[in-house]
Amino acid sequence: MATPRHAFLMWIAQNDRMPTRVRLTSWGLGLSPNCCLCDSAPETRDHLLLRCEVSEQVWVLVLRRLGYTHSGFITWTSFIEWLSIKDSTAPLILKRLVSHATIYSIWVERNKRLHDGISTSPPTIYRLIDRHIRDTILGKHNSKKSFKNLMLSWLRND
Ligand SMILES: [Zn+2]
Repeated sequence: MATPRHAFLMWIAQNDRMPTRVRLTSWGLGLSPNCCLCDSAPETRDHLLLRCEVSEQVWVLVLRRLGYTHSGFITWTSFIEWLSIKDSTAPLILKRLVSHATIYSIWVERNKRLHDGISTSPPTIYRLIDRHIRDTILGKHNSKKSFKNLMLSWLRND
Protein backbone atom coordinates (compact mmCIF):
# COMPACT_ATOMS: atom_id res chain seq x y z
CA MET A 1 0.00 0.00 0.00
CA ALA A 2 2.66 2.49 1.00
CA THR A 3 4.80 3.76 -1.84
CA PRO A 4 8.46 2.71 -1.56
CA ARG A 5 9.79 6.28 -1.26
CA HIS A 6 7.33 7.03 1.56
CA ALA A 7 8.29 3.83 3.38
CA PHE A 8 12.00 4.57 2.94
CA LEU A 9 11.65 8.08 4.34
CA MET A 10 9.66 6.73 7.32
CA TRP A 11 12.51 4.28 7.97
CA ILE A 12 15.07 7.09 7.85
CA ALA A 13 12.92 9.22 10.17
CA GLN A 14 12.27 6.34 12.55
CA ASN A 15 16.03 5.88 12.91
CA ASP A 16 16.52 9.64 13.22
CA ARG A 17 18.89 9.69 10.24
CA MET A 18 17.40 12.56 8.30
CA PRO A 19 19.98 15.21 7.44
CA THR A 20 18.23 17.86 9.52
CA ARG A 21 20.04 21.13 10.22
CA VAL A 22 20.81 20.08 13.79
CA ARG A 23 22.45 16.85 12.60
CA LEU A 24 24.37 18.64 9.82
CA THR A 25 25.61 21.20 12.35
CA SER A 26 26.77 18.40 14.64
CA TRP A 27 28.91 17.09 11.78
CA GLY A 28 30.82 20.37 11.83
CA LEU A 29 29.22 21.96 8.79
CA GLY A 30 29.07 25.70 9.40
CA LEU A 31 25.34 26.05 8.97
CA SER A 32 22.56 27.64 10.97
CA PRO A 33 20.86 24.87 12.97
CA ASN A 34 17.53 26.62 12.50
CA CYS A 35 14.51 25.02 10.86
CA CYS A 36 14.16 25.53 7.09
CA LEU A 37 10.40 26.00 7.47
CA CYS A 38 10.12 28.56 10.30
CA ASP A 39 13.70 29.68 11.03
CA SER A 40 12.78 30.10 14.68
CA ALA A 41 13.75 26.79 16.33
CA PRO A 42 16.49 24.18 15.94
CA GLU A 43 15.66 21.79 13.11
CA THR A 44 15.44 18.43 14.84
CA ARG A 45 13.38 15.58 13.41
CA ASP A 46 10.61 16.04 15.97
CA HIS A 47 10.46 19.79 15.46
CA LEU A 48 10.53 19.68 11.66
CA LEU A 49 8.06 16.85 11.14
CA LEU A 50 5.67 17.41 14.07
CA ARG A 51 6.13 20.58 16.12
CA CYS A 52 7.02 23.26 13.58
CA GLU A 53 4.23 25.81 13.07
CA VAL A 54 4.12 24.93 9.35
CA SER A 55 3.97 21.17 9.98
CA GLU A 56 1.40 21.64 12.75
CA GLN A 57 -0.93 23.41 10.34
CA VAL A 58 -0.71 20.46 7.93
CA TRP A 59 -1.29 17.93 10.74
CA VAL A 60 -4.35 19.84 12.01
CA LEU A 61 -5.97 19.56 8.58
CA VAL A 62 -4.95 15.93 8.06
CA LEU A 63 -6.05 14.74 11.52
CA ARG A 64 -9.37 16.59 11.31
CA ARG A 65 -9.93 14.99 7.91
CA LEU A 66 -9.32 11.54 9.39
CA GLY A 67 -11.86 12.33 12.13
CA TYR A 68 -9.52 12.82 15.10
CA THR A 69 -10.07 15.55 17.66
CA HIS A 70 -6.42 16.00 18.69
CA SER A 71 -4.45 18.30 16.44
CA GLY A 72 -0.90 17.01 16.45
CA PHE A 73 1.94 15.17 18.18
CA ILE A 74 4.44 16.31 20.79
CA THR A 75 7.11 13.68 20.14
CA TRP A 76 8.03 11.12 17.50
CA THR A 77 7.38 8.39 20.08
CA SER A 78 3.81 9.55 20.69
CA PHE A 79 3.28 9.77 16.92
CA ILE A 80 4.50 6.19 16.37
CA GLU A 81 2.36 4.97 19.28
CA TRP A 82 -0.73 6.57 17.76
CA LEU A 83 0.21 5.14 14.38
CA SER A 84 0.36 1.59 15.73
CA ILE A 85 -2.97 1.61 17.60
CA LYS A 86 -6.16 0.32 16.01
CA ASP A 87 -9.08 2.56 16.87
CA SER A 88 -12.63 3.15 15.69
CA THR A 89 -11.96 6.60 14.18
CA ALA A 90 -10.07 5.64 11.01
CA PRO A 91 -8.86 2.36 9.46
CA LEU A 92 -5.26 1.65 10.45
CA ILE A 93 -4.18 1.31 6.82
CA LEU A 94 -5.61 4.76 6.05
CA LYS A 95 -3.92 6.28 9.13
CA ARG A 96 -0.60 4.89 7.93
CA LEU A 97 -1.08 5.86 4.31
CA VAL A 98 -2.00 9.43 5.25
CA SER A 99 0.70 9.80 7.92
CA HIS A 100 3.46 8.55 5.64
CA ALA A 101 2.30 10.89 2.90
CA THR A 102 2.22 13.79 5.38
CA ILE A 103 5.74 13.13 6.66
CA TYR A 104 6.97 12.82 3.08
CA SER A 105 5.23 16.05 2.03
CA ILE A 106 6.71 18.02 4.93
CA TRP A 107 10.20 16.77 4.08
CA VAL A 108 9.71 17.66 0.39
CA GLU A 109 8.46 21.12 1.39
CA ARG A 110 11.50 21.62 3.62
CA ASN A 111 13.83 20.69 0.75
CA LYS A 112 12.00 22.90 -1.74
CA ARG A 113 12.34 25.88 0.57
CA LEU A 114 16.00 25.11 1.23
CA HIS A 115 17.15 24.32 -2.31
CA ASP A 116 14.68 26.10 -4.60
CA GLY A 117 13.42 28.96 -2.44
CA ILE A 118 9.85 27.90 -3.18
CA SER A 119 7.23 27.96 -0.41
CA THR A 120 3.92 26.15 -0.48
CA SER A 121 1.24 27.03 2.07
CA PRO A 122 -0.01 24.38 4.53
CA PRO A 123 -3.52 24.31 2.97
CA THR A 124 -1.96 23.64 -0.45
CA ILE A 125 0.31 20.93 0.98
CA TYR A 126 -2.82 19.40 2.50
CA ARG A 127 -4.63 19.47 -0.87
CA LEU A 128 -1.66 17.71 -2.50
CA ILE A 129 -1.77 15.04 0.22
CA ASP A 130 -5.52 14.65 -0.38
CA ARG A 131 -4.95 14.15 -4.11
CA HIS A 132 -2.18 11.64 -3.45
CA ILE A 133 -4.43 9.64 -1.09
CA ARG A 134 -7.29 9.58 -3.61
CA ASP A 135 -4.96 8.53 -6.44
CA THR A 136 -3.37 5.81 -4.32
CA ILE A 137 -6.72 4.37 -3.23
CA LEU A 138 -8.11 4.56 -6.79
CA GLY A 139 -4.96 2.86 -8.08
CA LYS A 140 -5.69 -0.08 -5.79
CA HIS A 141 -9.41 -0.01 -6.45
CA ASN A 142 -9.67 -3.16 -8.53
CA SER A 143 -7.31 -5.28 -6.49
CA LYS A 144 -9.26 -5.36 -3.23
CA LYS A 145 -12.81 -4.60 -2.29
CA SER A 146 -11.74 -3.07 1.02
CA PHE A 147 -10.28 -0.09 -0.80
CA LYS A 148 -13.78 1.12 -1.51
CA ASN A 149 -14.26 1.39 2.24
CA LEU A 150 -10.93 3.20 2.55
CA MET A 151 -12.09 5.78 0.03
CA LEU A 152 -15.37 6.20 1.88
CA SER A 153 -13.44 6.70 5.13
CA TRP A 154 -11.22 9.29 3.51
CA LEU A 155 -14.10 11.17 1.87
CA ARG A 156 -16.35 11.04 4.95
CA ASN A 157 -14.99 14.24 6.49
CA ASP A 158 -14.12 16.03 3.25
ZN1 LIG B 1 10.19 25.04 12.17
